[in-house]
Amino acid sequence: MPEQVVCSKCGGQMERGGIRGDSSLIWGHVKESSIFGVKAVQMVGPMYSVEAHRCEKCGYIELYAINQQGK
Ligand SMILES: [Zn+2]
Repeated sequence: MPEQVVCSKCGGQMERGGIRGDSSLIWGHVKESSIFGVKAVQMVGPMYSVEAHRCEKCGYIELYAINQQGK
């Protein structure tokens, strides 16, 4: 039973999908640190895979971080 997602912008129907870039998108907390004056950004867990819902009417894309990755 697919859950019906409605566009928060226009009320249109949202289509479930994903985003393909260089690899699948992962959401995680970001930890900033400074090593020898160089700013480094590190991803720390827990991480989630990202699911995208696209509105069929206006094209608005909403992202959901679902399915925790690893442990
Ligand atoms: Zn819309």
